[in-house]
Amino acid sequence: MIDDSLQRLRVLVVDDKAFVRTMTGRILQSVGIANVSYAADGREALEFLKRDDPRVGLVLCDLMMPDMDGVELVRHAAELPHKPPFIFVSGANAALLGTAADMARARGLLVLGAIEKPVSVESVRAMLAKLEDVRTSPKSAPRTLPLTAADLTRALDRDQIILHYQPKVDLRTARIEGFESLARWQHPEHGLVPPGQFIAMAEESGTIEPLTDRVLSLALRQCAAWNAAGLSTKISINISAHLLVDLRMPDRIAREAAQNKVDPKQIVLEITESGVFRDAADTLDILARLHMKGFALSIDDFGTGFSSMEQLRRVPFGELKIDRAFVNGAAQNQKARAILQSSASLGKSLGLSVVAEGAETQEDWDLLAALGLDLVQGYFVSKPMPAEAVPGWSKGWDDAH
Ligand code: C2E
Ligand code: CA
Ligand code: CA
Repeated sequence: MIDDSLQRLRVLVVDDKAFVRTMTGRILQSVGIANVSYAADGREALEFLKRDDPRVGLVLCDLMMPDMDGVELVRHAAELPHKPPFIFVSGANAALLGTAADMARARGLLVLGAIEKPVSVESVRAMLAKLEDVRTSPKSAPRTLPLTAADLTRALDRDQIILHYQPKVDLRTARIEGFESLARWQHPEHGLVPPGQFIAMAEESGTIEPLTDRVLSLALRQCAAWNAAGLSTKISINISAHLLVDLRMPDRIAREAAQNKVDPKQIVLEITESGVFRDAADTLDILARLHMKGFALSIDDFGTGFSSMEQLRRVPFGELKIDRAFVNGAAQNQKARAILQSSASLGKSLGLSVVAEGAETQEDWDLLAALGLDLVQGYFVSKPMPAEAVPGWSKGWDDAH
């Protein structure tokens, strides 16, 4: 991090022990941070953050404190208009630090990481380097663009919603099994906007229905075009559980597939498990009929929802996609590996095709192969790409494997 921005950065150190505050302050000063403020508990810290003058650019926060602890502080800080990045500092065990960091992220805060006590010059330097990465990375552009349902409706009218495709390959043979279609918004001002910025809004506003209709027809047309060009492959489409309430949906999709002369067997419908059972009767009705019409059903983000076992029992899924939280880094993380392994063996014993998503490294790939998973999707194979790039990529992959 350049010295100039370090000199301007104000860091708030929150700890109930005076000697820890003093020591942390000295370390911060020794790495070039001149503006350090202190709070002895969460309440004092919150007052400081609320005043917003001087503005705090980073909070180093202890977890266990009397009165208001670090977890409570985060809960309140998340409500403030200006939310500084957090680093947790604690003598508590690594699992608790990890839980606190996940909780803060779930509340929309940027968490740079956790430092186990005692704080050292090296650990502070490493965190500051992360702060600099985050600042300069294009991804840290505002996480929530002010996009509304009306904007999305307009975008649909103007054909600004497009699909990128990410390959899914067989772990044993390296054969290309299919491609997942992933929505992108080609926005005139914001550039290529990822779905994380608009799917939730679309679900809340109901615009998910016209959006999914568009995604379906784009994917079906693409599938037909690839069939015609001799690149016959499967395409996966994400279906929000919010849409499993319209009893006419299976007929609509089947009709559209037929119009495009696409065999439903080429289409995999990925359903995020967490919301599947809103209205059990209608949802099961819809899923059963999609299955009878020949569409393959996939349970997406497996491991992150609430009633996944129940859904596996009731719905005729053919594929289970293990969430990338349990895939990437599973080689190092014993808990993630245990969940990955048991999800895989559960899927296998139910006769499902088991897919791991989010494999980023050779190490990830090797572990998945060793655990006997069927398919893999992730940056290690390829990032999602525009449709035009797919034929060339496929040829390159087939030639190399
Ligand atoms: P998803 O269904 O879990 O899709 C996989 C996401 O993981 C994609 O993000 C993909 O780019 C990303 N990914 C794949 N491999 C890796 C990897 O190795 N490392 C990392 N870090 N990430 C990887 P994307 O395209 O941003 O999509 C995010 C989510 O948005 C999707 O998650 C899906 O839930 C939703 N989404 C996308 N398109 C649609 C759509 O047409 N309809 C609905 N309802 N949801 C969609
Ligand atoms: Ca998916
Ligand atoms: Ca997923």
